[in-house]
Amino acid sequence: MTTRSPVLIVGSMAFDDLELPTGSFPDTIGGSATYASFAASTFTEVRVVAVVGDDFPASILTALETRGVTTKGIERAKGRTFRWAGRYDPDLVGRTTLDTQLNVFADFSPKLEDEHRGCPVVLLGNIHPALQSQVLDAMTGPELVVADTMNFWIQGEPEKLEALLPRVHVLIINDEEVRQLSGIHNIRRAAAEVRRRGPHTLIVKRGEHGALLFDNTGIFAVPGYPLEDVVDPTGAGDSFAGGFVGYLASHLGKGGAVSAHVMRTAMLYGTATASRCVEGVGTSMVQSLVIGDVEARVAQIRTLFELPR
Ligand code: AMP
Repeated sequence: MTTRSPVLIVGSMAFDDLELPTGSFPDTIGGSATYASFAASTFTEVRVVAVVGDDFPASILTALETRGVTTKGIERAKGRTFRWAGRYDPDLVGRTTLDTQLNVFADFSPKLEDEHRGCPVVLLGNIHPALQSQVLDAMTGPELVVADTMNFWIQGEPEKLEALLPRVHVLIINDEEVRQLSGIHNIRRAAAEVRRRGPHTLIVKRGEHGALLFDNTGIFAVPGYPLEDVVDPTGAGDSFAGGFVGYLASHLGKGGAVSAHVMRTAMLYGTATASRCVEGVGTSMVQSLVIGDVEARVAQIRTLFELPR
């Protein structure tokens, strides 16, 4: 018997200044919690803990609420919202961070209400690893802890991140980050080293090439779906995490048990969710994502490795 559990999502809510090959998109709504919450709400009930400044549009909070996301845990602080600026290479694969302004995040201390503390599943989106740990400290013992991070924190806060790892069940990072975190170039060896430090499952995102999963039963690979038009890759990682955790939370066994089958199917759903996300600028696609859109993409991905009869 599986149950549909609510997911607590913690992360950034942001203004992104995007430089895409197709043009500049200043003040685009973004952030790890924003993408992940829109994505996960396709599957299950979501409760967000984050901070925005007084410049953040109320319409986005309304859009989240409309999808069944509880936004009571989003603090509106005096000051400017977190801001990130990035430029994509013409191939839309390479990306350079031009600027990161923490703004209201600099003084943020997550405040959890009872409805957050007791969530059985938590996605620690990409934010300062000390804040990720603080959230776990305040929780009453989540059954499944999924975390994301990025080079900014691997480089800038290695000790805080190291302290978080033993408390994480599933870590989701990209290939460059797993190498940086482990100091090992070979992905398989690097994954073993990262898993030795805590998470029983490691997911390595490989951009347009899909994702790899490493756990104690072996390795599993999902290809990326080759799209004809990638519009904006921003948020693909967070949408993967949101889709992945949303699927897991709606198929959780007793005591948070996740079978190898469900874990691997969640990889397909995460990949499909991310591939939908990149078909529009910013959160435009994930804001209106429905389960049928994700399932149609899952079916398309499955055909990529189906042998003809
Ligand atoms: P992704 O493309 O999945 O890596 O996620 C991009 C999103 O992450 C953007 O919307 C940014 O606002 C957000 N972001 C970028 N850098 C950081 C950071 N250091 N901490 C938290 N969120 C960030």
